[in-house]
Amino acid sequence: MAVCEILSVGTEILLGDILNTNSKYLSVELAKIGISVLRHTTVGDNHARLSAALKTALERSDIVIATGGLGPTADDITREVCCEVMGFELTLDERIADGIRSFFVSRGIEMPENNLRQAYVPIGGAVFENRNGTAPGLGLKKNGKCIVILPGPPYEMAPMYQEYVVPYLAEYSDGVIVSHTVRTMGIGESAMAEKVADLLEGRNPTVAPYAKKGEALLRVTAKAENEADAYALLEPVITEIRNRLGDVVYGIDSESIEQRVVELLKKNKMTLATAESCTAGYIPKRITDIAGASQVFEYGAITYSNDVKEKVLGVRHETLLAYGAVSEQTAREMASGIRRVSGADIGIAVTGIAGPGSDGTDKPVGLCFVALDAEGEQVCEKIETGRNDREYNRYVTASRALNLVRRYIEKTGG
Ligand code: ATP
Repeated sequence: MAVCEILSVGTEILLGDILNTNSKYLSVELAKIGISVLRHTTVGDNHARLSAALKTALERSDIVIATGGLGPTADDITREVCCEVMGFELTLDERIADGIRSFFVSRGIEMPENNLRQAYVPIGGAVFENRNGTAPGLGLKKNGKCIVILPGPPYEMAPMYQEYVVPYLAEYSDGVIVSHTVRTMGIGESAMAEKVADLLEGRNPTVAPYAKKGEALLRVTAKAENEADAYALLEPVITEIRNRLGDVVYGIDSESIEQRVVELLKKNKMTLATAESCTAGYIPKRITDIAGASQVFEYGAITYSNDVKEKVLGVRHETLLAYGAVSEQTAREMASGIRRVSGADIGIAVTGIAGPGSDGTDKPVGLCFVALDAEGEQVCEKIETGRNDREYNRYVTASRALNLVRRYIEKTGG
């Protein structure tokens, strides 16, 4: 059995300022995939001591998982020291650098140049996307040894572990590990976890919840002697999860909400039109990223100003005056307006406050309304992301609007 050591990096852990919950989490999770954790080590943010601890750990273990010290400041040295010890060179990844720049732009904050340190990745190493922060995780494999480097904040570390590290470590596990990811939308991570609480206690398959850009996911992982047996273990658990969660489940594994929507529209020979305010073209972009979208996508209007909402979509002046642009009433009239103007089977609309600034009213940033209008059906959902993150709010709102289409077609027999 592969042997692993967890190396926690951070002077604040040594000082007792924070409790080392990452080691606990990782020990429990690694056992589930058949990797034995034989040591926990903690070192401060000190180059010489971290380097020595890594070298010793690599002598006695196959895998070292280091957490913490990936931040932008000078005392965040884990990335550099791990690469130095394993003999990997670092290089600037422009794509990650752009991602970090836009992370700051979307929050309306000027980016300190230091932050670009987080965009350095090892040549020949693996990079694990950080969906909840800026520093990506990293994987280094050489001569049968492996170092995985994860960010310190638990809410960044845990989803990254589930999404990327479990598959990255599969080769170290005895037997074969396979997993499926159940994707849901319209339910929070903790509400989802509650519905499957007993399944989360299972050992094989294991079920682990995590959240990603407005979606709550369950990773179901099974271990067996061969692949067929492992998949056979997964099947009844996936069926049980589907039964428990019902129609919030929109797909399994890599299928995105836009893929599912295009597939359903095609299958049912239906067409879609969109009217957007704060997402400003985001939904048509995601729909038309899918090949064959022209068969189902009719018309997309960006109706940013109130005037255009009235002129193009026929939203009533009184509605805008009484309830404002960001309101359920406006969203509903936008959806019916775009369906009427386009002649499509389904109209969807979005209006909201993406941030970082407010819209001048007392409505909070992250408040959005998504509406759907179709033959005999009109629905509207209120979304409150609670986040002052323009990019996140736009993405999540567009997803939720697409989810209305999915639910409508599935409900009407799609
Ligand atoms: P950042 O980019 O936020 O600086 P980082 O990867 O550099 O992240 P650290 O600076 O080491 O991580 O830690 C950031 C925070 O993450 C800590 O203040 C603490 O709240 C949390 N954290 C770090 N290590 C652990 C740990 N082992 N267990 C629990 N929480 C931790």
